[in-house]
Amino acid sequence: MATAVPAAPSERQVSPEMIAVENPATGEIIGHVPDMDAAQVADLAQRARAAQPGWEALGYDGRARVLRRMQRWLMDNADRVITTISSETGKAYEDAQIAELAYGAQAFGFWAKNARKYLADEKIRSSSVFVKGKRLILRYRPIGLVGVIGPWNYPLTNSFGDCIPALAAGNSVILKPSEYTPLTSMLMAEGLAECGLPDGVFAVATGRGPTGAAVLDEVDMVMFTGSTATGRKVGVRAAERLIPASLELGGKDPMIVLADADLERAANHAVYYSMFNAGQTCISIERCYVEAPVYDDFLARVTAKTRAIRQGVPNGPGSVDVGSLTFPPQVDTVERHVADARNRGARVLTGGHRGRDHGHWFEPTILVDVDHDMACMREETFGPTLPIMKVADAEEAIALANDSEYGLCASVFTRNISRGEALARRITAGAVTVNDALVNYTALELPMGGGKPGSGVGYRHGAGGIRKYCRQQSLLISRFHPHRDMHMHPYNARRTRLFTRALALLNRGLPNK
Ligand code: NDP
Repeated sequence: MATAVPAAPSERQVSPEMIAVENPATGEIIGHVPDMDAAQVADLAQRARAAQPGWEALGYDGRARVLRRMQRWLMDNADRVITTISSETGKAYEDAQIAELAYGAQAFGFWAKNARKYLADEKIRSSSVFVKGKRLILRYRPIGLVGVIGPWNYPLTNSFGDCIPALAAGNSVILKPSEYTPLTSMLMAEGLAECGLPDGVFAVATGRGPTGAAVLDEVDMVMFTGSTATGRKVGVRAAERLIPASLELGGKDPMIVLADADLERAANHAVYYSMFNAGQTCISIERCYVEAPVYDDFLARVTAKTRAIRQGVPNGPGSVDVGSLTFPPQVDTVERHVADARNRGARVLTGGHRGRDHGHWFEPTILVDVDHDMACMREETFGPTLPIMKVADAEEAIALANDSEYGLCASVFTRNISRGEALARRITAGAVTVNDALVNYTALELPMGGGKPGSGVGYRHGAGGIRKYCRQQSLLISRFHPHRDMHMHPYNARRTRLFTRALALLNRGLPNK
């Protein structure tokens, strides 16, 4: 298992074998982790496979005990967890508390409680005459060794979080965190070990893309979260290996504000959920469509609220609202989208610049006079920007919302709830909220996944969020068993005539008189 070594100021790459981890808000180096090669990953996989049967044999109650201990461990170590997340991502203390610590603790409790329910044997009834009187059971058994390849935006929630149901189902797991944010994963490994997880069941493979590829070559199933481009590569390799892949990819989530909306609520949601985590959330509000009659009022509210955001180096509770960007190249992407919009005639109402000498920053930014020829309306920006477009009516808003290769989440704001729901059903996205945004992610009972290929394949949360870590096994048990069944050799004409009549009766019903 990877272990952190003491930090020393140095370049990002200190040796071919170690990767330096940077605090993106300050530029400080805060730790180093091994850059694991394929042989090291194979070694982790061997240990994980050896440990898996014992973990599975503990059963739901035995595994739930470890998961519940870890739920408490997270609370007991809350400050350390939040500080680790905040220092390797640059996010505000509250962003780490609300969307990572709280999620992690809830997820441990949720899967400890619900794994048994979602994976319980199912009694199956069949219409086949061949199985009359036999017992049919659908069973979920752990797939074995699961690989989780995670991104940098939520090292606990989006990266480690997927390991929790995989473990609850009885699998061993190798987690490959982003090279930019490996420290949280290693802290989780430390916590799990303290909470009694058997050695080898969970391992962290630190490294870059090739380490992720090596994990993919070892595991029985892969759960990937990240860019659509890398997700496609992961999907191709999984297909070559004939292993299942669950892919949670990009988003370009639209928000629609109708003329009858509670504008204050809509504006608060627009600003909070586009700037939360510095906009680096796959289900951030990334574009906004506002009906003409309320457009100016909405813009005024959103601009004032965005100007009031306190951005800076996170330094404990309440110190800042928005931190830095986590992934250094992301600043270039955000800058490119803003420049492209300006060049094509958009106006910047506030923000618009990259910032500071140290760390990786971009100002909270509101763009208007935008259209669908601009990168900011088509590509995932993944930064603290909100482009807002005036639309004539709800029909135009729906057409524009659906004009995207992505379809992760979307939101509609209106006081007319039934109309809001009707419009929500017309948006092609994995999840749509009415008068709300993002909080659907906290309902672990509700599936979360892409509604279009660009946003991924498969779901996290809900029954599917744990069944995907299993193989289905069908059991048929014959309690009454004659020496020979009716349909077996030798065939004879009398039985065939009987069977012909029975077939007709079953499939056509009784003949009409
Ligand atoms: P990637 O999709 O490239 O990386 C995600 C994970 O996959 C990382 O752990 C990465 O390792 C790993 N990886 C990279 N190449 C391979 C490979 N060939 N096989 C297996 N694993 C691999 O995302 P980035 O971090 O580069 O971010 C790029 C863009 O993705 C962002 O600008 C953003 O638009 C989007 N994104 C979307 C997220 C979401 O939640 N849907 C989350 C994060 C990013 P390593 O980081 O070490 O290279």
